[in-house]
Amino acid sequence: DYALYHSKLYCRGETTLFSQEHEDAIRVERAVETALRSVDLDAEMRIHYQPILDTETGRITLVEALARWMSPTLGQVPPDRFIAAAERCGMIHHVTLLLLRKALADCALLPPDVGLSFNLSAHDLASPETVAAIVGAVRKSGIDPRRMTLELTETALLRDFDQAKEAIVALRALGIKIALDDFGTGYSSLGYVHRLPLDKIKIDRSFIAAMDSDVGGSVIATILNLCENLGLDGIAEGVETEGQMAAIRRHGCRLVQGYLVGKPMPLAELLAGLPRAEPHLLRA
Ligand code: C2E
Ligand code: MG
Ligand code: MG
Ligand code: MG
Repeated sequence: DYALYHSKLYCRGETTLFSQEHEDAIRVERAVETALRSVDLDAEMRIHYQPILDTETGRITLVEALARWMSPTLGQVPPDRFIAAAERCGMIHHVTLLLLRKALADCALLPPDVGLSFNLSAHDLASPETVAAIVGAVRKSGIDPRRMTLELTETALLRDFDQAKEAIVALRALGIKIALDDFGTGYSSLGYVHRLPLDKIKIDRSFIAAMDSDVGGSVIATILNLCENLGLDGIAEGVETEGQMAAIRRHGCRLVQGYLVGKPMPLAELLAGLPRAEPHLLRA
């Protein structure tokens, strides 16, 4: 096995420990792939929704769909794990569409002024068939495309920039909004952000967590400044404390997501909580 071989070569001093870890990791990856192939994904996959607060109006304007898979054999498998497994075994088109259809069906139950934000895999935009199927699913659902945001990561853009750009232009022509997720964690975020027609930037939560330091604060200020200059909405991810909320608002960030506002939750729970005002969160 290449990875195992490589790890042995690379780390001679700690060969046993290091390759044992690798072996375990590979075994887990294989198990996830096997489970993914053999199960009834439609029955086992659920979507949780995490609210995004507009701090100026005090309303939840958007919810992010986050996939949950409770495998009978493996237990709860984290989404980044099973998305990566689906990418490896050529099932990502199928998984993306299955999750999108569920999210669109749920979206019909949300108040019409609440938008839906959906994560795409890096592979999705590179496939014209997948992009066409995404558009088809939105059309068929009857949901106003202007309520939809698709979240992309830098990896999605780096796979094939021109193809990704073409897909983004086509999706935006229908009214679908595009958000760049985990902004600032990649290698060349600044290298392409001005070359793409985007609507939103989601500031990675590592920056929010580092906000207490001077450096962290100035990175946030710089990203928000960039958003303003490019006419993009900035969304702070991973806001967990009142202190972070106050600081991020002082920097002029209007849209906030994180455990402080709400954790990802089942649709029913979200619907029950939506009408509740959250005035304590509005204190700046
Ligand atoms: P993401 O899109 O950046 O989603 C945000 C992640 O941060 C979620 O983890 C969410 O539960 C977590 N989070 C939100 N607020 C807080 C907070 O205040 N503190 C902390 N510590 N964490 C917070 P989750 O649900 O485990 O998802 C992980 C990643 O998996 C997502 O990152 C996304 O890249 C991917 N993912 C999830 N659902 C889907 C999906 O349906 N399709 C695709 N392609 N990827 C998905
Ligand atoms: Mg996301
Ligand atoms: Mg993110
Ligand atoms: Mg992420």
